[in-house]
Amino acid sequence: MKLLVTGGAGFIGSNFVRRALNDELPGVEGAEIVVLDSLTYSGVRENLDPIADSPRFTFIEGDIRDAALLDEIFPTIDGVVHFAAESHVDRSVRDAAIFVETNVLGTQRLLDAALTHGTKRFVHVSTDEVYGSIEEGEWTEEFPLEPNSPYSASKAGSDLLVRAYHRTHGLNASITRCSNNYGPYHFPEKLIPLFVTNLMDDQHVPLYGTGENVRDWLHVDDHCRGIALVFANGRAGEVYNIGGGTQLTNVEITEKILELMGKDDSYVDHVEDRKGHDLRYCVDISKIENELGYEPQVPFERGLAEVVQWYRDNRAWWEPLKERAALEAQK
Ligand code: NAD
Repeated sequence: MKLLVTGGAGFIGSNFVRRALNDELPGVEGAEIVVLDSLTYSGVRENLDPIADSPRFTFIEGDIRDAALLDEIFPTIDGVVHFAAESHVDRSVRDAAIFVETNVLGTQRLLDAALTHGTKRFVHVSTDEVYGSIEEGEWTEEFPLEPNSPYSASKAGSDLLVRAYHRTHGLNASITRCSNNYGPYHFPEKLIPLFVTNLMDDQHVPLYGTGENVRDWLHVDDHCRGIALVFANGRAGEVYNIGGGTQLTNVEITEKILELMGKDDSYVDHVEDRKGHDLRYCVDISKIENELGYEPQVPFERGLAEVVQWYRDNRAWWEPLKERAALEAQK
């Protein structure tokens, strides 16, 4: 089996590729992997260095919107795991256009290619943010889509296209919607790696608003195992929520990070809240648990401590990315 992994140089996609090629993901063992990634600011070729010599691995630098390129690739592959996206909410608040182009148009181009070339299986990686914000309880997959940011609206658009290609054309496609991922190789603009790396350099951390926003935290290893289970055994046309089972306010996660870094809350700067900041996300994961035998395996305290250690050990990975992002922000 040959899998096309779009966005495979990003945070989650590269975890999927490294672990698939090490045969650590159930259902895709032995698969050959073709990564298609245009290496935007968050695509890091070095994320794939650990498996670069695998005879089962090919890297193609290219854009998911490039229909001619897709027509060359798709006849050679059996299935798709689609991660490629613009993924940072704050960036979508500043400039939404690229989010629509990549997340909506790019997904549609991939779906067209899959249809034209008879691709056997398509898994679209989405987000719980498409449901909006929930004050209490948990979202099942049946909840309506009420996205609040340009990022989540563009992901909801792509989800609906995947659904439509299944309903209209019978494409064998499923959708996953996960909560907030954390783990190694996480681009240092996101909360956990930003806070950890700031504190490593004795800098303050910016906490949005009151910090009461609640997120469910999912280790990237657990997420990728869930995606592999959906790829192998998920039902066509179905959505599967994937979560980690650890709900924390941003204040609580900040306190945990401060403690692990040996710092106190004098390092926290309360900054103006993100526009339209969703208060609470919480997914019901009983469908994937009952149907596919998924359960989160990485306890949050252990996962977070390992991530902190990873950033301590890998300054050469994150420092240039952070410097580049800072330069870009000054433009
Ligand atoms: P990321 O930003 O780290 O990686 C995205 C990758 O896509 C990068 O390698 C980038 O170069 C590539 N890419 C972007 N535009 C492209 C294009 N036009 N053509 C080809 N490649 C392109 O993102 P991530 O955190 O790894 O997220 C992966 C997927 O998971 C996304 O679809 C995101 O919406 C979803 N997701 C992420 C989280 C999270 O917590 N990180 C939570 C829920 C859902």
